Amino acid sequence: MERDMLDVDPPEETHTIYWVTPEDSEVQHATASPPPREGGPVDTLGGHGTVEAPPNSGDRMRHTQRFCPDCFAAYLNLPGPTPRWHHTE
Ligand SMILES: [Zn+2]
Repeated sequence: MERDMLDVDPPEETHTIYWVTPEDSEVQHATASPPPREGGPVDTLGGHGTVEAPPNSGDRMRHTQRFCPDCFAAYLNLPGPTPRWHHTE
């Protein structure tokens, strides 16, 4: 079965991270809990409290928008196959 060779189980430690931009904010925050469809407060990954997610927040990162530095640092520190970079020694 050639197809079986292509099936790869996703790593169990994969995190789904949602990015929300409060309406009064210019930066997007990361959260590990799905934002309510009708909007509402969500815990931030950066650990600086809750932010108000607007209705119908997606889980997509907007690459043209600035990130909250705390949330982005926490995102990079997540275990698992997240992009990371290191200084080489
Ligand atoms: Zn944040």
